[in-house]
Amino acid sequence: MKIAVIGTGYVGLVTGTCFAEVGIDVTCIDIDQKKIDNLHQGILPIYEPGLEEMVTRNVEKGRLHFSTDLTEAIKDCDVAFIAVGTPPGEDGSADLKYVLAVARGIGEHMSSYGVIVTKSTVPVGTAAKVRAEIEKALAKRGTDASAIEFDVASNPEFLKEGAAIDDFLKPDRIVVGIASDRAEEVMRRLYKPFLLNGHPIIFMDIPSAEMTKYAANAMLATKISFMNDVANLCEIMGADVNMVRRGIGSDARIGTKFIYPGIGYGGSCFPKDVKALIKTAQENGYDMQVLRAVEGVNENQKSVLFNKLSQHFGGELRGLKIAVWGLSFKPKTDDMREAPSLVIIEKLLAAGCIVMAYDPVAMPEARHSLGDTITYAKDEFEALIDADALLVVTEWPDFRAPNFEVVGRLMKQKNIFDGRNIYDASELKDIGFVYHCIGIKTDH
Ligand code: NAD
Repeated sequence: MKIAVIGTGYVGLVTGTCFAEVGIDVTCIDIDQKKIDNLHQGILPIYEPGLEEMVTRNVEKGRLHFSTDLTEAIKDCDVAFIAVGTPPGEDGSADLKYVLAVARGIGEHMSSYGVIVTKSTVPVGTAAKVRAEIEKALAKRGTDASAIEFDVASNPEFLKEGAAIDDFLKPDRIVVGIASDRAEEVMRRLYKPFLLNGHPIIFMDIPSAEMTKYAANAMLATKISFMNDVANLCEIMGADVNMVRRGIGSDARIGTKFIYPGIGYGGSCFPKDVKALIKTAQENGYDMQVLRAVEGVNENQKSVLFNKLSQHFGGELRGLKIAVWGLSFKPKTDDMREAPSLVIIEKLLAAGCIVMAYDPVAMPEARHSLGDTITYAKDEFEALIDADALLVVTEWPDFRAPNFEVVGRLMKQKNIFDGRNIYDASELKDIGFVYHCIGIKTDH
């Protein structure tokens, strides 16, 4: 089979590379010339564990190509994936201008039957808009072209940044929305290599597939905000959220996953998808009350660590040196979109703190938004030198078991504010640290 993947970001590059990995001929398209030039030299636009090796291997095998030219790639392909961004518009709804621009381009260049698949996260009704855009472009080309048949399909992506390759190669499920048997047959054939070990493919109508992606992310965001709400109450009431988490997680109906309290969700998906779903509902006369609360809790949660710091220092933060460990919104990615670190650092700077941060991979990306307002350390220990407090913002493995003797020696004051609950409160107290975390009352 021959496929095109349009949009070579976190989703498009992983999708294209994983299809190439199982032997399919893939062309990844992007409008960003620099991105494509870099990819030709083996330089990836994103950090994703294992991806670089996989890209190199498949380029060498001649199955993975990169281009800015949609014309050739789209000509005889069996399937074209649209994997461009769908950022929030000003009113919170998903902005479809990139998706529809690609649809137009496909209509202008396709030459035979193909399935046009939205892999981007798009609201219910988008596949119909994609179809209309393609039909319009085909009609403009004249009678011959307007006779070209095609199907649209929705195939939302559920990969997690940081574990994207595994998620793609061994998916919990593949969801495909289709409106014809022909499209179902093409999509089943395309995904067959990924189904061999019992990973399920679920076919459904297109609107349900489009909705499934939003419902999944909204549910995950809800779990996080719920747990953060519980954590905050635990702290007030003198309960330990880690104990509560284990206590509830052992109920199979609740489960142990994704119930860790922290400093709020971020990233390119949960915030925008929750907003977009609220907006879709509003536009259709329905109020997503739970999700509005999920958003509200999340906004507050991003300030929790700063508030603890401020309270500890009696509101006198001016001139304090603060070490920040972790900038990306979660470990194993360089994605800084909507990262809670940005809110925390903005507050620290506004309060007059001097910030020195370290992140294993996200510092170049962080520089785009933070510039020189903070100092970037060469490693986690340099960030600690003369620090009055350490804020643990992202739970990178590198930070999980530091040598606390060294940590204490480097810092001016032994204060740790742990936004991810990765340390043991009593152990740190025993060695002279003041330790604050989320959802556990400490005696300091
Ligand atoms: P991204 O910003 O990393 O990549 C999008 C790419 O599309 C960019 O490289 C951009 O240059 C390119 N592009 C824009 N317009 C184009 C055009 N007309 N032709 C060709 N290329 C074009 O975005 P992403 O994180 O990969 O997300 C893509 C979509 O997938 C979004 O809808 C997102 O919600 C969804 N999604 C993302 C994730 C994730 O973890 N990042 C997971 C699941 C779903």
